[in-house]
Amino acid sequence: MQEIITVNPANGTELYRYRPMTNAEIEDRLTAAAAAHADWRRVDVRRRCEVLSEVARLLRAKQEQLARLAVAEMGKPIAEARAEVEKCAWVCDYYAAEAPRALADDIVEAVGSRSWISYEALGIVLAVMPWNFPFWQVFRFAAPALAAGNAVLLKHSPNVSGCAVAVQEVFIEAGLPAGLFTTLLIAEAEVPETVSRLVSDERIAAVTLTGSNQAGAHVAAAAGRAVKKSVLELGGSDPFVVLDDADIENAVTGAVASRFVNSGQSCLAAKRFLVHWSLLDTFSERFAEAVGRLQVGDPMDPATRIGPLARADLAAALHKQVEAAIRAGARALVGGGLMDRGPAWYAPTVLADVTPDMPVMTEETFGPVAAVIPFEDDEDAVRLANLTPYGLGASVWSRNEERALALGRKIQSGALFVNAVVASDPRLPFGGVKHSGYGRELGTAGAREFTNVRTVVVT
Ligand code: NAP
Repeated sequence: MQEIITVNPANGTELYRYRPMTNAEIEDRLTAAAAAHADWRRVDVRRRCEVLSEVARLLRAKQEQLARLAVAEMGKPIAEARAEVEKCAWVCDYYAAEAPRALADDIVEAVGSRSWISYEALGIVLAVMPWNFPFWQVFRFAAPALAAGNAVLLKHSPNVSGCAVAVQEVFIEAGLPAGLFTTLLIAEAEVPETVSRLVSDERIAAVTLTGSNQAGAHVAAAAGRAVKKSVLELGGSDPFVVLDDADIENAVTGAVASRFVNSGQSCLAAKRFLVHWSLLDTFSERFAEAVGRLQVGDPMDPATRIGPLARADLAAALHKQVEAAIRAGARALVGGGLMDRGPAWYAPTVLADVTPDMPVMTEETFGPVAAVIPFEDDEDAVRLANLTPYGLGASVWSRNEERALALGRKIQSGALFVNAVVASDPRLPFGGVKHSGYGRELGTAGAREFTNVRTVVVT
């Protein structure tokens, strides 16, 4: 079986080789998860949450080591990697405190002498995860899923296999019973077939996937055939709408922060910048100036804002989208091409003269590329904002909050932020509509997502 090889995208050097698990080894992990779950679901929720508190403590203790591993495997700037590990600790602390309340029985006055809703574990949840936030994507799902009494099998992206193994180690060191959280290393060529087989296995209760549309459709189809619950957290092409009364300085600062987080590789980064025609020139000029000042460099340097993309093929795919836009008449105000640092490096780019039919508008751009397009009035802004198959987040910038809210309510998205950059927060639900997926992570909704919402009536 072909080994899984991890590579540092900053310089192309090989990091580590992993032997993929055989089918027999995967079967052993599944059997162990089923046995561990049978006990764990009966453990008091408070005890389950104590383990999460210990996980949070360990994450903070290992912050530097984990952050460096993420930087080496997928190239994110170290300052962001440290912040990601801290956010994972936060989500564990949040659910350690909140899960007992979110999962407590809800008494409802209905038929019978007593009736209530209980939130019971579903079983083993298969999690298929992407590389862009190699720790956060896992913890934001796993912390509430484990608190609710489920077991987790993780299939992570192969380029972050070291992070995937490290997450399992943290759970084990924190005292989570053996088998409850297991990382599966699956040979790349066998991923679709193995994941489909696992989804159809009767010991697996549900599946969650964070990733691209194609992967989501494949896994959800398998879950549909097996009549199993699925949650999909897919791509986004979030609109960032700048109204004519916006504070332009704030909007430019927000635009840079949103589009260029994680070197542009974030599902909820704003990707399409819709600007009222009267502000177009000023906004575009200041935006391009600020982007041109972003420090590109060694991702291990704390001053670096933009590192390489996670893989060379991702930079090549992004460049195709930019080239198509430029061929169709767009202009790069800054950037616009690969950098000579290596094949995974892409220059931070702002495109002007963009039209709605260009791939940078119709498709998701997963890298440091911003497309700026003007609109005529509020109605036109809504039309352009909704001109995408995606619906993850939307932000609207205006000095008039009510006007921004009224406009924002007409945009189809899982989140609406006014005068703020769209960001996830353990206390608030997160997820999309349209092709951005379905189901919710985080908040109370996330605590209950992988539970059997069970009605109990006693007469
Ligand atoms: P991806 O190629 O879809 O991979 C995501 C995961 O799905 C990987 O573990 C991948 O494994 C697996 N996968 C791919 N095809 C599969 C199939 N046919 N059957 C089973 N598993 C399959 O996505 P990515 O390039 O890693 O991540 C970028 C995408 O994720 C973007 O579209 C981004 O917007 C989205 N994303 C969404 C959110 C959100 O919360 N909504 C968050 C982060 C990222 P292999 O690589 O081994 O195939």
